[in-house]
Amino acid sequence: MAIYNLGSINADLLYSVPHLPRPGETLAATGFRRGLGGKGANMSVAAARGAAHVVHIGAVGPDGRWARDLLTEYGVDTRHISVVDDVTGHAIILLDPAGENTIVINPGANHAMTEDQIGLALSEASPGDILLMQNETTHQAFCAKTGSDLGLRVIYAAAPFDAEAVRALLPVMDMLVLNAVEADQLQQALGMAPDALGVSDVIVTLGADGCRWFHAETGQVRDFPALPVTPVDTTGAGDTFTGYLLAGLDRGQPMEQAIGLATKAAALMVTRIGTADVIPDLLEIQQMTQ
Ligand code: ATP
Repeated sequence: MAIYNLGSINADLLYSVPHLPRPGETLAATGFRRGLGGKGANMSVAAARGAAHVVHIGAVGPDGRWARDLLTEYGVDTRHISVVDDVTGHAIILLDPAGENTIVINPGANHAMTEDQIGLALSEASPGDILLMQNETTHQAFCAKTGSDLGLRVIYAAAPFDAEAVRALLPVMDMLVLNAVEADQLQQALGMAPDALGVSDVIVTLGADGCRWFHAETGQVRDFPALPVTPVDTTGAGDTFTGYLLAGLDRGQPMEQAIGLATKAAALMVTRIGTADVIPDLLEIQQMTQ
């Protein structure tokens, strides 16, 4: 089977600064690093490291060919990443010595995809394949409807959270993945708890407290603890969790087993500094003692 991921691709431009600048202040950075990021790209890399066949549907600008090449190197099928006449999506991240940050995201090429591009990619999919989306691109509603009509399993990671986007996808959504903050936002915006949405499976990740699975068919709510590790950087934990969860499900694992795999991958991830580049691979997870 395969995972089709309509997702963002960003250049993470990380500047170390002595302090976060005040309005009107100009500062010299003390360090600079460029990495591959974007929730979409992170999830594609995680699922590919989890041994899934991942087809990423996305776009970069002419300045972002390196990002597409890197995704290819990381095992992602990049044939449906187009190069468009726009700047590659990027995040400008300012990081002070205390670890506090401010982030500005320019979606750029992530908002320049077309329905034709998405339709063409999905025309290769087979019933039962997974279709994953987040909220850093455009055309999710079209993509979800097309995927659903083709018999794909439609999975939405509702980040960054937007209530209207969730509402639009609800009728065709098979699974929803949220973190604790997004689950709160959902409850406030729609006045509904995760188990009242009519979605077959809802997973709420709870950081160091693990995750909760709402299973509509049985009406069960099950908690899964996180692994006890000492975190050094939780960036990308959620993306790693989701990518690995879907890699497990795509291989036919039952939900409990896929959550177990995702929990291990995310635990290892929080012990590492960085995002897509340091997402663990399946072998490393299998070698974990716990
Ligand atoms: P992020 O936005 O930082 O990528 P998130 O807010 O989307 O993360 P979280 O709920 O923080 O997602 O974490 C996702 C999963 O990662 C958790 O369900 C858990 O399995 C694992 N995890 C996160 N923090 C820790 C931690 N401190 N120790 C162990 N596992 C963790």
